[in-house]
Amino acid sequence: MITTVVGSYPPLPRGPSSISEKLSNFFGVYDGYKPAIELAVQDQIKAGVDIISDGQVRDKMVEIFAKAIPGMAVEDNTPKIIGKILPSPISICADDLKFAIKVAERISKEYGSNQDKGLKDGIKGVKGIITGPSTLVYSSRMEGFYKNKENAIIDLACALKREVEYLEATGAIYIQIDEPFISTGMVDIQTAKKAIGIITKDLSVPKALHVCGDLTEVFDELLRFDVDVIDCEFTSIPKNMQILENVNLKGKKIGFGCLNNKTDEIESKEEVESLIKKAIDLVGKENLIIDPDCGMRLRSRDAAFAKLKVMVETVKNL
Ligand SMILES: [Zn+2]
Repeated sequence: MITTVVGSYPPLPRGPSSISEKLSNFFGVYDGYKPAIELAVQDQIKAGVDIISDGQVRDKMVEIFAKAIPGMAVEDNTPKIIGKILPSPISICADDLKFAIKVAERISKEYGSNQDKGLKDGIKGVKGIITGPSTLVYSSRMEGFYKNKENAIIDLACALKREVEYLEATGAIYIQIDEPFISTGMVDIQTAKKAIGIITKDLSVPKALHVCGDLTEVFDELLRFDVDVIDCEFTSIPKNMQILENVNLKGKKIGFGCLNNKTDEIESKEEVESLIKKAIDLVGKENLIIDPDCGMRLRSRDAAFAKLKVMVETVKNL
């Protein structure tokens, strides 16, 4: 089974230490987040994860896009929609992805960008991650221009389509869209589906949708979304196991969250194994991709690393 992460890793930016870094700092071009990306990439590879991320260390999932997309803004720590939403003229995440791929390739040639792009055992590389349009709109205050959220969501989907094209061109071997708001029941699911379809159309790499929360009400609808993988949490929300019972996956795979991202407590191999075995019994190994429940942003670095290691070692023995 393939292993991956949901995306975020403890962000540990660091000040300039070497002479060249101090010099870059003097000229205002030092980027303290690069060491944080390097650390996230190193740890994920060292833990043995197959499809890794750049750690999403630079900013929070809504703010990073709201600051950069024309028509959106962050004012007084509040993401807002202030005008007509348009694609960003430059990529928002491609530079960090490019740097992560470079670091990954340096550590192991296996993580290079020119990999076979199928979702099969042996795949290794760095994924591109965006926050979904429904989540961005529902997390933002609407100030003028749009009369309803639906139109803003569709315009955002068009803007994010451009972003995933950048990420694919940069060497992402997998594109993941994070839409936690879908499980809240607030989002119009048909608009959400249409928006995801706009983003994923014509992508040649595998496409995943990460939705945290209780999915028992919306999962049937998610199976109709144009993605290859639906990624959900099964540790914090044991109820989600119900969605795997007698399910017709319609060719999709399940991203199976098997680590609790809400605590630094490290799961035992036995706990993780018994959870994954339940999923294997219900949908078969061939339909599972194994990952943590959600991002690790709030965990300590030691806990994040130890958890990933337990996950990878458990999967190896199954
Ligand atoms: Zn999540």
